Amino acid sequence: MARSRSSAKKKKKSVLKKVIDFFVKSEYHAYLVGGYVRDSTLGRESVDFDIVVEGDGIRIARQLNSKLKGKLTSHAEFGTASICINSHRVDLASARAEKYTSPAHLPHVYPSTIVEDLNRRDFTINAIAMSISKENFGEIFDPFEGLSDIKKKLIRILHKQSFMDDPTRIFRALRYKNRFGFKMEDDTERLMQEAIRKGMVERLTGQRVLNELQLIFDEDTYPDTIEDLAYYGVFNLKRNDLRLMPSSNDHAFYFLLSKLAKNTLPLTKDTQKIVDDFRNLPKVIAKLNKASAHSTIFGILSPLSSEAAEAISLIKPELSEKTKTYQTLRKVKPFITGKDLRKYGFKPNRQYDRILTKIFNMQLDKKIMNRKQALAYLNTAKKK
Ligand code: ATP
Ligand code: MG
Repeated sequence: MARSRSSAKKKKKSVLKKVIDFFVKSEYHAYLVGGYVRDSTLGRESVDFDIVVEGDGIRIARQLNSKLKGKLTSHAEFGTASICINSHRVDLASARAEKYTSPAHLPHVYPSTIVEDLNRRDFTINAIAMSISKENFGEIFDPFEGLSDIKKKLIRILHKQSFMDDPTRIFRALRYKNRFGFKMEDDTERLMQEAIRKGMVERLTGQRVLNELQLIFDEDTYPDTIEDLAYYGVFNLKRNDLRLMPSSNDHAFYFLLSKLAKNTLPLTKDTQKIVDDFRNLPKVIAKLNKASAHSTIFGILSPLSSEAAEAISLIKPELSEKTKTYQTLRKVKPFITGKDLRKYGFKPNRQYDRILTKIFNMQLDKKIMNRKQALAYLNTAKKK
């Protein structure tokens, strides 16, 4: 799901350097914000660069991209643009235009503009900006003392209404907390719990919840975040559910979706099938526990999506022999096919499928060893 961070790392310098060169040589007022400033303070690599510019973000992005030569996508309605290049993403956003309205504030317009922009952000650690403009390059704007919170390892919102304004921040808070091994600041934790209690998560569209879940499962610390979401009551998960979560991001993602109320998330048909299979896994596992004949194992597992079939050995390692057997059985070529049946005068109907399955099962169980024996069986079946 996630882009490869390690391959992106190698090219990081050159992309960031080109971005900085562009702004330092220009007259624009631009700031690196959010993730990059936070991560570099923490001594961590970051792949994406968020830039706030004063002026027309989309036009400036076009100019920047004539140097970067990446893939530019503009979002006119938000005044934002993204450039994708070598697994990096450079996001450009326009600082709010209304900050320019009062001429009385002109001398302070740049800092106050960026500070205004930072006011809209989620957490103090993400509300730090660093100028990459010619005249004050490197100057840090940290109106909410995010640098201090980074040192104290705290996730802190900027104002009391934050979680009510945007409940996706509940997911974000827990994701950052676990990614960095931080703690929730006391008031932030209390206000988050209050928002959860007031049902703010239920007010989010399914699509927004799904997006947040995908972001959570893109990170290695997803088990902690899911545990937190259960602990705080965002999701109603039992201890056992958590214990049985498969140890792979993708499978765990489907596993969690299968534990949530049906039809709350806008899933594609394919994803829905996988999730339904995951919901059914306890029954499948119980049946598989008892199964020993190859044909029985095949019959239990073949209707499943490959994701659900793979998850079984992650949930129950003691069943891995049987799931391995299934992977071999999947490759078995049937001795006879529908074509043979038609040649023998069978009309395609239910009985036809039954005979094909029967012969294939006998083949899987080694009761029939070759095509000749299969055809001989077919002959006797026909006479009946
Ligand atoms: P990551 O390493 O997860 O990408 P990031 O800080 O770059 O971390 P993004 O999701 O890329 O996070 O968003 C960029 C910035 O936009 C954040 O740092 C934050 O300042 C702001 N932001 C994103 N989502 C929200 C939100 N829901 N509410 C307020 N600010 C947000
Ligand atoms: Mg980012």
